Amino acid sequence: MASKLAADCIFCKIVKGDIPSVKLLETASTFAFLDIGPLSEGHALVVPKYHAEKMHQVPDSFLAEAMPVAKKIAAALNVENYNILQNNGRLAHQEVPHVHFHVIPKPNAEEGLTIGWPAKKANVDKLKEFAGELKL
Ligand code: 5GP
Ligand code: ZN
Repeated sequence: MASKLAADCIFCKIVKGDIPSVKLLETASTFAFLDIGPLSEGHALVVPKYHAEKMHQVPDSFLAEAMPVAKKIAAALNVENYNILQNNGRLAHQEVPHVHFHVIPKPNAEEGLTIGWPAKKANVDKLKEFAGELKL
């Protein structure tokens, strides 16, 4: 599978080896390494070798390997609790505009991912109407 990388992207440079990283695993379509600003020990990133900012812009063939790689890392970390996180867009806390999946061990309440979850009560009829209008 031919990768598609950009010249001016920090994660593309890491994939190419132009910027050093602590590599964990590499496959034909993904590159996985340790996060330089970990939320907990073992915090890793899985990067498709395809430059795109958001997940829906990445071809399925490049995404297909990302979850098995994240799974392999999660299993090797041998932690009981962890989060898989993938941010799309600045407002959604994406800092690096190249799609990546975080594998973040959650060893205790203080370390790892902390998130707000401002859930509202849904109206089921409105949910059905919304689902019915989605073009999938
Ligand atoms: P985002 O907020 O975009 O989902 O996450 C970007 C992540 O990339 C952050 O957790 C940040 O610490 C990590 N990161 C940014 N630059 C580098 C780098 O040069 N090397 C590594 N290993 N991680 C990086
Ligand atoms: Zn890139």
